[in-house]
Parts: sequence; structure tokens; C-alpha cells
Amino acid sequence: RAKERGRGKVVRYVPQGKDVLVRQLVLEMDLWGALERGELVLYYQPLYDVLRGKLVGMEALLRWRHPEMGLIPPAEFLPQAEDTGLIVPIGEWVLREALRQLVAWERETGEVLRAYVNVSAVQFDDPEFVRRVAAIVAESGVQPNRLELELTESVLMRDIEASVERLKELKAMGIRIAVDDFGTGYSSLSYLRRLPIDAVKIDRSFVWEVKDEKDTGTIATAVIYLAHALGLEVVAEGVETEWQKEFLASNSLQIMQGYYFGKPLPAEEFAATYLRKAT
Ligand code: C2E
Ligand code: MG
Ligand code: MG
Ligand code: MG
Repeated sequence: RAKERGRGKVVRYVPQGKDVLVRQLVLEMDLWGALERGELVLYYQPLYDVLRGKLVGMEALLRWRHPEMGLIPPAEFLPQAEDTGLIVPIGEWVLREALRQLVAWERETGEVLRAYVNVSAVQFDDPEFVRRVAAIVAESGVQPNRLELELTESVLMRDIEASVERLKELKAMGIRIAVDDFGTGYSSLSYLRRLPIDAVKIDRSFVWEVKDEKDTGTIATAVIYLAHALGLEVVAEGVETEWQKEFLASNSLQIMQGYYFGKPLPAEEFAATYLRKAT
């Protein structure tokens, strides 16, 4: 079945040209075994609470250190990982590794951070998903409320009833839920209140609308207002300038992520750059 879906994808990508197609096929083949060969790595990006002026968490972002092609961003291999179902074992590895890192950093530096971990549609649909997450969290020893799973609005809105049920199970364990890329699927905003979620991450396209001039950031402001009205924590992603930070903070947005605060870095560099030195 994975093969059939893979073939459907090939048809979809033909217009992009032969080289792109070949590269995608090579990547898809190489992806089998990439996990076992230890080629997948996590980069971590800091999240800051700007009102309290402190580091509060990190988002785990997947990268592939391909032996010939170098560092490959997730956009280039996540579609293949989803089409083949490989995203399921890869996603479990991401979760286990991010939580292991969280524990290691706490032990080494005393910093108690939260881990933000992305979950794709294929993972969320896996009937074993909740059970696997529960097992990995338990095994890590991390307090469940220090884990925040990120799901996009479009994934959650496909089947609201099913999403509500699944989220309730995760919430019952104490795990936090954030809606990623929030605002990009605004046709179903009215359904949002039905979802048992804790936070929204405002899509960076809205943050980028905040320019160094008046009359910008209207949508960001509206989204912040709406999310606060629903009692949700609000995170901004893609914050790149001081102006954006100030603008968002003046609209009571508390948690921010973006190049202005820091780029995603491999574990060791993250610790050296963003964490207190171990004593
Ligand atoms: P996302 O979850 O929305 O992650 C934020 C993306 O924005 C990351 O791209 C990050 O590097 C980038 N970013 C952060 N701040 C800035 C900024 O100030 N400016 C700009 N231009 N970009 C910024 P990345 O790492 O390439 O990841 C892309 C997407 O891949 C993620 O979007 C997420 O949807 C997916 N992804 C990444 N890691 C995983 C994973 O472990 N599992 C799954 N299922 N998806 C993942
Ligand atoms: Mg994310
Ligand atoms: Mg996002
Ligand atoms: Mg995204």
C-alpha cells in the first residue's frame, strides 16, 4: 500500500522536472535505514517567555545528515517519510530523543524546559499512537506536562470528532497540545473551541506581516485576541526582528520563537549557546 501511495506522489511531482524527481526518489530509497544508520539528528530552537524574560522551552526539529548530500531539511524528506509510513518509527525516535535530551540538560544545568515536538497526520492516525506516546513519556521519566505536542490545524480539522477523542486521551495523561501554523486554516476557526488544546502557535506568515511601519500586523493582532478569548496560551513563531517582538509583546503575546531569539542548533551547540553553564 505504501508503494501505491508512493507512485501517486510521483505523478504529482512530475512537473517539477527530472532532477528534482530523481533526487526525491533517491532520498525515498535512502530513507529506509537512515534511522538505523544514525543519520537522523535533532536540532533544537529556543522558546522564550518575553514577559518573564527567560528561556522556557525548545522545539525539536528533524534534520537528515545524508552521507553524500549533506544536511537535508525536513521539507525535503517528510513527504516521503509520510508516504512510506516511515514517519511512525522516525516520529517515535524524535519523541524519545527529545525527552532524553530534556532530562540530560536538566541534570547537567538545572534548567527545567518544555519540549515541543511535531506530530504529522500519519502519526496521529496510527491506532497505536497514544499508547506509544504514553510508553515513551513514562520511560523518559519526564513530567507529561513538560511535553507539548504540535499538530497543525488542518490535521485536527479533518475529522473533528476523532481528533477530540484522541486529544482527550493525550490530555488525560497530562500532555499539552498546541496547534501549529495557527491561522492558516481559518475557515474552521469556529470549531477550534471544541478541541481540548492548550496553546496555539501563530503561523510565521502573520508575524512577517508585522513590518517596521504602521497599519501592519492586523491579522496577528486578531489571532492573538481570539486565542486569548478562548483561554489559550499563544506562541509566535518566525519572530525575526526587534520590532516584531515589541509589537507582539505589546499585544500580550508571551512566548516567542524565531531567528531574533535564536536559530535551531544541534544539541551541544544549543547547550553552549542558550543554557546556563553546568556548575
Ligand atoms: P514548524 O513546526 O512550523 O517549525 C518551524 C519552522 O520554522 C522550522 O523549519 C524552523 O527552523 C523555522 N523557523 C523558526 N524560526 C524562524 C525564523 O525566524 N525565520 C524563518 N525563516 N524560519 C524560522 P524546519 O526546521 O525546516 O521545519 C519545517 C517543518 O517540518 C516544521 O514546521 C514541521 O512542520 C516539520 N517538522 C520538523 N521536524 C519534525 C518532526 O520531528 N516531525 C514531524 N512530523 N514534522 C517535523
Ligand atoms: Mg512546529
Ligand atoms: Mg509552525
Ligand atoms: Mg510549519
